[in-house]
Amino acid sequence: MSVAQSLQSLKDKLRASDRMPLVFLGHGSPMNALHENGYSRSWAELGRSLPRPQAILVVSAHWMTRGSTLVDVSALPKTIHDFYGFPQELYDQTYPAPGAPALAREVATLLASHHADGDDTWGLDHGAWSVLKWLYPDADVPVFQLSIDMAADLATQLEIGQALSALRHRGVLILGSGNVVHNLRKMRMGMAPYDWATEFDTRFADRLTDRDFAALADRAAMGSLFTLSHPSVDHYLPALTVAGASDAKDELIFMNTSIDIASVSMRSFVFY
Ligand code: ZN
Repeated sequence: MSVAQSLQSLKDKLRASDRMPLVFLGHGSPMNALHENGYSRSWAELGRSLPRPQAILVVSAHWMTRGSTLVDVSALPKTIHDFYGFPQELYDQTYPAPGAPALAREVATLLASHHADGDDTWGLDHGAWSVLKWLYPDADVPVFQLSIDMAADLATQLEIGQALSALRHRGVLILGSGNVVHNLRKMRMGMAPYDWATEFDTRFADRLTDRDFAALADRAAMGSLFTLSHPSVDHYLPALTVAGASDAKDELIFMNTSIDIASVSMRSFVFY
């Protein structure tokens, strides 16, 4: 099924649904925020296909904490330009969506057993705004971020997703932003994907399809394939949060199933 057909199927199904879908997007280069390309067009199309959320909770690869899970409770999250050496035009970008402080505080309470706390020093990093800019270009849906705890094991991120799943019934879109394979040390511009990148990406898709989330969180069993694909787990964790929030009733579609610069998978998915 093409992406267009999948999104039409998504639209048809959503008419009968009383809960928000779950979205994971491979965000790749910050430059995708500026350029209209296959990825950014698919994000815009997805934004038009989804029911309008009351609020968006973003789990981005770029807000890393250790030993805690922070929730941004600011009323007006600032746009963070957390990258170096890009054109000025990218630093001039802003995404002035309001926050959702009351809901964010509620989420901190919901995740109390995961050392959660409110925080007003972050905002929206490029993992969030580079895709939100296309999904909701008017920046008129309240948005707040949740950090990833780099000290916790992978299964914790599944548990956090499960704890968040009740928000789907309240019009909250849970949006994970990372990459299923992300190894910038091995990047090769314009080259074919490494075999290990293709293998990890395919295994990830198969296990997600089988709903074998335990296998996706079993770092030891994934061995060197995992450490090659993720020298650091930051871009992987948001995919687990989204998987953890899904349940047996959800259907799954994939989007943007390609690998860029040989070592970054752009694979994205929607549970609905
Ligand atoms: Zn990133």
